Amino acid sequence: GAQARDVDTIIIGSGPGGYVAAIRAAELGQKVTIVERDEIGGVCLNIGCIPSKALINVGHHYREATSETPFGLVTEDVTLDWSKAQSWKQNTVVNTLTSGVKMLLKKHHVEIIKGEATFNDNETVNIVQDDGHELLQFNNAIIATGSRPIEIPSMPFGDRIIDSTGALSLEKIPEKLIIVGGGVIGSELGGVYANLGTKVTIIEGLDHTLNGFDHEMIKPVLDDFKKHGGEVVTSATAKSAVQTADNVTLSYEVDGEEQRVTGDYLLVAVGRCMNTDAIGLNNTDVKLTERGVIEVAENMQTHVPHIFAIGDITAGPQLAHKASFQGKIAAAAISGDKQARDLHYSLPAVAYTQFELATTGENLETVKSDNLDVKISKFPFAGNGRAISMNDTTGFIRLISDKATNALLGAQIVGPSASDLISELSLAIENGLTTNDISLTIHPHPTLGEAIMDTAELADGLPIHI
Ligand code: FAD
Repeated sequence: GAQARDVDTIIIGSGPGGYVAAIRAAELGQKVTIVERDEIGGVCLNIGCIPSKALINVGHHYREATSETPFGLVTEDVTLDWSKAQSWKQNTVVNTLTSGVKMLLKKHHVEIIKGEATFNDNETVNIVQDDGHELLQFNNAIIATGSRPIEIPSMPFGDRIIDSTGALSLEKIPEKLIIVGGGVIGSELGGVYANLGTKVTIIEGLDHTLNGFDHEMIKPVLDDFKKHGGEVVTSATAKSAVQTADNVTLSYEVDGEEQRVTGDYLLVAVGRCMNTDAIGLNNTDVKLTERGVIEVAENMQTHVPHIFAIGDITAGPQLAHKASFQGKIAAAAISGDKQARDLHYSLPAVAYTQFELATTGENLETVKSDNLDVKISKFPFAGNGRAISMNDTTGFIRLISDKATNALLGAQIVGPSASDLISELSLAIENGLTTNDISLTIHPHPTLGEAIMDTAELADGLPIHI
């Protein structure tokens, strides 16, 4: 057979898992080769987190510009040049970030190979490129191949049946959009189009959308969505879809009764399956669970000691910051750091819905299921000066602290900048800080972050603003 070329650390996939692992491994002295079959930056930068947040921003601006304000701003004849919004999203937002990542990889002397990698055995990968293929023998490998949308056989992707990638690049704003799956991705994209005037219908199998966030958090989002023409059907089973030249009709079942809904497009967002089925793992001793998750130790090591796995293909939530965190652990472990362990106490999660939802550490459900003895304090943004001056008072902050020690165990935020505010609380949880530590930290005035201090003061029994 062909002679294999020797490489040091090979990383398969360049998403937030792979590219971060590559940079960190290079910083720690490894000679790194990264293989990417598609675009540098993976799902997150190209067709996930970043372009979705760009369109969410467009939706917010459009809605603001077309809504009545209490402060006398009058706008007339607001129009949106959608093709300009699309090209801004792609050429400015996405391309700035992906070319930035390419620059960083170059700076760290990471070899980039464009091609599709499959394992031949525990020591070699075969890379198929446009113009041939190459065999590489590695000292260490990090698998970071990510995930792809699940396809429902009775509603195959194509034309008017689209996945999240299709929903991010529609040529026209649809009049009516049907979404199967009211998880974070379906709800975020539904929110974008609802803000742009589309009539959105979400069909969800569970009895609630936005699974992972509790009812109290979701309620303001749902109320707002419905007020903007959105419809949510829960406990519904999507059956099949039929498309014509200009629309698509979904059949679904609720309470044993068949229903139908017709729209311009049908977005299927029912979860993501792992890219572990076609990378030759059967030629290795790497072990998978039935769902295709790669089994890893706390240092991200698979059952083959010199092969690691990170990101969406490991157990737990499929989040970019989880992938990056694990990438740094794997890079450190390969460099001989015996302390490198994925032992976090809090993994924040955010939904970029109309009112942002953020959670970290324990939540109402885990408090119950783990029988934790906690104190729960809640402060509304309606009592926060900055929120009032921003005309953005919907939502609240909730702190969950240990009843005996006051250590912060968990936190949830609904409302303005929840996605940014949650980090302070993750920092507190990771470092065993108490609600008193938060109360005694001076927060600048007037800020949304003061509401965190107010919630902590409430937990300590010495509230000022409530
Ligand atoms: P990926 O980003 O999936 O990257 C894997 C890469 O590996 C891909 O580029 C792929 O082409 C490549 N690859 C696969 N197989 C091979 C092979 N055999 N050879 C070579 N290359 C290969 N997460 C958040 O935390 N926040 C958000 O706001 C957020 N929003 C999202 C919005 C949408 C619409 C979607 C779809 C996802 C969103 N996510 C979000 C999830 C986030 O994108 C993923 O958790 C993250 O991208 C996972 O990173 P990863 O490195 O594991 O894999």
